[in-house]
Amino acid sequence: MAHSMSNQEISILGSSGSIGRSTIDLLERNPEKFQVKALTAHSNVQQLIKQCLSVQPKLAVIGDTKLYQELKEGLSGTQIEIAAGEEAIIHAAQYPCDMVVAAIVGTAGLKPTLAAINCGRTIGLANKESLVAAGNLMIDAAKKTNAKLLPVDSEHNALFQVFETKNRDFIEKLILTASGGPFLHFKKEEMIDITPEQAIKHPNWSMGAKISVDSATMVNKALEIVEACYLFSMPESQIDVVMHPESIIHSLVAYKDGSVLAQLGMPDMRVPIANVLAWPERIETPVARLSLSQIGKLTFFEPNPDQWPILSIIREALRNNKGETIVINAANEIAVQAFLEKKINFLDIITVIQETLICVNSELPETIDHVIALDQQARIMAKKLIEEKF
Ligand code: NAD
Ligand code: MG
Repeated sequence: MAHSMSNQEISILGSSGSIGRSTIDLLERNPEKFQVKALTAHSNVQQLIKQCLSVQPKLAVIGDTKLYQELKEGLSGTQIEIAAGEEAIIHAAQYPCDMVVAAIVGTAGLKPTLAAINCGRTIGLANKESLVAAGNLMIDAAKKTNAKLLPVDSEHNALFQVFETKNRDFIEKLILTASGGPFLHFKKEEMIDITPEQAIKHPNWSMGAKISVDSATMVNKALEIVEACYLFSMPESQIDVVMHPESIIHSLVAYKDGSVLAQLGMPDMRVPIANVLAWPERIETPVARLSLSQIGKLTFFEPNPDQWPILSIIREALRNNKGETIVINAANEIAVQAFLEKKINFLDIITVIQETLICVNSELPETIDHVIALDQQARIMAKKLIEEKF
């Protein structure tokens, strides 16, 4: 690709979601730099139509086939090609472009993200669950096709910005910061009564429902440890987590000479998304500027292992190097859904994950079909446990 960044062609998988909307916002502000190729959404067809009318992609795909007619009517009179269904989302992922922003939530993003990697596209990776489920396979596929994975997740984007690839042997630790979510100072007995409405209100970040609950249970940070292992090819023993409730330092790399490099900024996902869209250049964003003197002080402390058992669960799963992270990820998706539907309480989310891990035989999968089979098995088991026990 040439030096100048003009006319980068971008597709967004999951454009109707929180990351997708922030991405569209940046594309709308930089029409001379970016052209939109494909947009996909699962069920929010009105949001997709609105986005299409604004950024004029070549292709628009709605996942839910029942909504095809509504999409067609909404885009009638435009030149935009439309399609519906799972296969059409994969087709959108393969559509020629420079960068695919992978912003579908959950394991549903795995096949489309992998399809884009197999086409050798640069990926703006927000969909961490796909990496947690199939990290090895995704990294191998990216090596084969020369696809670059640029992290959108704020912590990993921070690491990406200060990680000196040529000095990787001099890196001692990656340090992920964690805000602790809305219930940081809750006692265990207070957590039982947490409602979905409380859980999806994050103090610093505005995000989709699933990742907001994940932030409140700390499962998000557990998934991010896995994500960091794969993206930076580091063992979990070299990845630390430090609590940092203000979400100003987004993560740090510690080097053997005692230097620690960090990336800072206001908690707004448009900062890491802009970094990825423009990389290796920079674009302007409308994000509030960081004023350290206005903030005054930043705080840090160790995560309490009794409050956040998922951190040691994920570390053990990584050391076992089996399919356990797949099971944790799948069981979590089912448990979060059940919590949002008020079928289980907040603390049950972790219990469902733990019990699913015990009940499912998680061998390390060697193919993507094995990954999907294990993911399915864990989902079925988690649902069964929820029906029987909670
Ligand atoms: P969201 O719920 O707001 O949006 C999810 C998107 O995925 C929507 O466009 C939806 O249409 C699509 N989708 C959902 N189910 C689908 C399915 N079965 N098939 C196809 N598409 C489907 O989620 P979000 O908060 O934007 O998060 C997206 C991803 O980015 C997640 O993996 C999340 O962990 C990651 N992430 C989000 C943030 C954030 O600030 N929101 C930060 C870091 C990482
Ligand atoms: Mg994050």
